[in-house]
Amino acid sequence: MTIIDIINGLKNKQFSCYELIKFILKKIKKNNKDLNCFITIEYKTALKEAKKYDFLRKFNQNNLLNGIPIAYKDIFCTKGIKTTCGSNFLKNFIPTYNSTLIEKLKYYGFINLGKTNMDEFAMGSFNESSYFGQVKNPWNLNLVSGGSSGGSASAISAGLIPASLGTDTGGSIRLPSSYCGITGLKPTYGYLSRYGIISYSSSLDQAGPMAHTVEDCAILLNLLSGYDKLDSTNIKLNKYNFLNYINNSISGIKIGLPIEYLKNINSKFSCLIQDAINIYKKLGINFVDISLPYIESAISAYYIIVSAEAASNLAKYDGIKYGYYKINPKSLKDLYINPRTIGFGKQVKNRILTGTYILNNIKYFIKAKKIRNYISNNFIKIFKKVNAIIIPTTKYRANKFNKKNQKLNLQQDIYTISINLAGLPVINIPIGFINKCPIGFQIITPPFTENLLLNIAHSYQKNTNWHLNYPNIL
Ligand code: GLN
Repeated sequence: MTIIDIINGLKNKQFSCYELIKFILKKIKKNNKDLNCFITIEYKTALKEAKKYDFLRKFNQNNLLNGIPIAYKDIFCTKGIKTTCGSNFLKNFIPTYNSTLIEKLKYYGFINLGKTNMDEFAMGSFNESSYFGQVKNPWNLNLVSGGSSGGSASAISAGLIPASLGTDTGGSIRLPSSYCGITGLKPTYGYLSRYGIISYSSSLDQAGPMAHTVEDCAILLNLLSGYDKLDSTNIKLNKYNFLNYINNSISGIKIGLPIEYLKNINSKFSCLIQDAINIYKKLGINFVDISLPYIESAISAYYIIVSAEAASNLAKYDGIKYGYYKINPKSLKDLYINPRTIGFGKQVKNRILTGTYILNNIKYFIKAKKIRNYISNNFIKIFKKVNAIIIPTTKYRANKFNKKNQKLNLQQDIYTISINLAGLPVINIPIGFINKCPIGFQIITPPFTENLLLNIAHSYQKNTNWHLNYPNIL
């Protein structure tokens, strides 16, 4: 069910909130054994809250959103609930406060069913690097779910939750959304508060909603937006009701198709993109070829920037305040080194070492920043000619689990990261299947035009039903 289905079901008394939550928790318990999409499941509190909302509903003291189930990527701090960030280092970390976005949804009455699995510290594209194990793809258990917000994508796709919040530093909302056949939105950098989200690369990290439909993402974005003085990068903007924009006509809009992004994809993928383009053409959209060069350099620039920022952000995990291990240190050095050696996985250590090297050789960082500026300026130039851009989300469909996947990581990120480097809003929507495995494409618009972005994406979903296909999970 979508969020809208659940709102209607509760309103029309098709089920009580308690019945709904109990049913879903049972389904999560059963399927999590295979999918491994949850790290923590909140059985007791979820049922208690469901009872509370049924009580309020009985006396008409509820609002429409009271009792909607949700789960959060385990990177969002949740008061009193373990927040691991997929790491051994934080496996016992219990925050004393909620991140702003969670606090907002709690205020509106969403029920937190738990914390979803993720790549350790959000570093990865396949959800293979979590300390808590790999997350499986509900369309085929031999395939990866995609990362780093793979637990959220897998759980939504399997029908265990209608929606979730993920984070996207270099594609972590869009890539698993594409692999699992769901809708995932990364808003403009600075649009949603990052307060209480464990930092990976602060100049790129951005949270966003993941759900079945654009309409549900619009509902969540309505609730999540709004200035937060606790995040210094959060931008003060007028509040929108995105639901008022999603049904606008898109006739006459101009969309750019970057030649560099479309030339190397396989023919099945090309056909599906062409089908989507044809649907848009029927809706009155004009397509023009554009050029977004320097894709390869975007990868190098991205990995230099994220590694440097990660090395800096992860320096606070010193084994004293966070991640205490019962090892008797013989020296201060011992005290620092042991927990970091035991607590971090291979991928995280790799980024810290690379990042530390880069911070000591600042010329690489400066060069990467220049490439980043070049990429951003190029997007700005192109948006003078077109209203939006469409590109595939990934180069291939979801792959099998494999230790060598980390090399593939770089190739799969090729379509997602330049959008983060430029800070633009972007959404993944499902556009079909290759060998029974879903794939999606991305729509990108200029900064802070989430209303246009959702409008273009929703217009596609009104004319197709790829987003309404569900894997066979009981
Ligand atoms: N795969 C990218 C990385 O490992 C993206 C991660 C993300 O968006 N959190 O950095």
